[in-house]
This record gives sequence, C-alpha cells and structure tokens, in this order.
Amino acid sequence: TQEMLRNSEKLSIAGELAAGIAHEIRNPLTAIKGFVRLMQTSGAKAGYLDIITSELNRIESIVGELLVLSKPREAKFSRQDLIRLLEHVVSFIETQAIMNNVILIKQFNFLSRVYINGDDNQIKQVFINLLKNGIEAMPQGGEILIDVRLEEGMVAVSLTDQGVGIPPDKLAKVGSLFYTTKENGTGLGMMVSHKIIQDHRGTLHLTSQVGLGTTVTVRLPLMG
Ligand code: ADP
Ligand code: MG
Repeated sequence: TQEMLRNSEKLSIAGELAAGIAHEIRNPLTAIKGFVRLMQTSGAKAGYLDIITSELNRIESIVGELLVLSKPREAKFSRQDLIRLLEHVVSFIETQAIMNNVILIKQFNFLSRVYINGDDNQIKQVFINLLKNGIEAMPQGGEILIDVRLEEGMVAVSLTDQGVGIPPDKLAKVGSLFYTTKENGTGLGMMVSHKIIQDHRGTLHLTSQVGLGTTVTVRLPLMG
C-alpha cells in the first residue's frame, strides 16, 4: 500500500504537470493561430510576424526547460572547475547585462581552482537562470555581486542583486511549477535550477528584502 500510495502520488503530480504544461503551451499557440488567421485575411504585417516569433520563442524556452526536468539521467558528471564555469557564464550573459544597465561584479578572482563533480552544461544553466532573474529584477539597472566562498567541504556561490525583491509570503512559491510574476516569464527557471542543484547534492537558498534586493546562494560539494 505504501508503494501504491507513492504511485498514485506520482500520477497526480504527473497530471498536474501535464495540465500546467498544456496550459502554458496552449496560450502562445492560440496567439500564433490567431495571428496566422489575421495574416490570411489581411496579409502579412511585420508586427504580426514579430508577435508570432515571440510566441514561438516562448514555446521553445518552455520546451527547452522542460527537457532538463525530464532527462535527469542524461547528466554527465565529471570534474569541473566551478570558477571557469562561472567565468563562461559571466561572459555569456555580459551583453544582456550591459543592455539592461546591469554591472556584474565578480568577487572570485582570488580563487584559482574550485573543483566540483558535475555536469558543466547543467551548472551553467543554473547560473544563467539565476543571473537572468537578477537582471530582470532590476528594470532600471544596478549591480549583481557574484561571491564565491569555501566552506567545510562545500563551495558557496552567492548572487546578490539590487532588484525589486520577493515579498515574504511569495518566497515559498518561487520555484514551484509555472510560478511567475513576469508578463513573459515561464516560471520554470527556479524549478529547473533547484532540480539540477539537488541532483548535484547541493542546496539552493533565497533571501530577499522587498525594494532592496535578493541573494541566491548555491552550495555544492567540493571534489578533491
Ligand atoms: P521566470 O523568471 O520565468 O518568472 P523563475 O522560475 O526563474 O521564472 O522565477 C520565478 C519567479 O520568482 C519570478 O517571476 C520572480 O517573481 C521571482 N524571482 C526569482 N528570482 C528573483 C530575483 N532575483 N528577484 C526578484 N524576484 C525573483
Ligand atoms: Mg527566470
């Protein structure tokens, strides 16, 4: 009966997931269909194509993030220098940051190598998700501090932004499926990040103050 319970629980989670995904993908599909119909009756217009493209991008990012959730076993773990991964992530996201008047401040230049056992692409994905959230939390721009510390057997990476912050009663919702406060958000970034860090035997913590900013701390086990 214990096992049956677990199975029925799994089924209901799968059902919720399917309902959520269907809903999230149906909205952009409906929009695309509508604009294609408009184009059939009134001809192609650049504005319609822009909307269709942005809705297609939305579907693409939802599906992309879901793939990470659905294929946990495809992770390829190997010895990775976390500092090098962070350097990659920062250079990848720097243009987006600059365009949004956000300055990324690296506080880890002093550390040479910090080895973890992980999947480089997944770990990069986590920090890209988190930095994107930081950038999106600061519509007028600001700074994101990236801090790396060594703790007992762990490495802790903190990302601190000066953004809008998260109200205490919403903190627990962050990372639940499709929870977003953004017009074009997917509500998948935090859930995927949590899952990846969990798969790496790490932890992810959020602290936030409305109007002041948010700190996300990722802890991962060090590898000798
Ligand atoms: P999305 O970014 O698509 O909304 P996420 O799962 O990445 O989805 O984030 C979920 C929600 O958590 C965001 O919509 C936002 O409300 C909140 N959030 C996450 N990170 C931050 C942050 N650094 N500052 C403020 N709010 C955040
Ligand atoms: Mg996000």
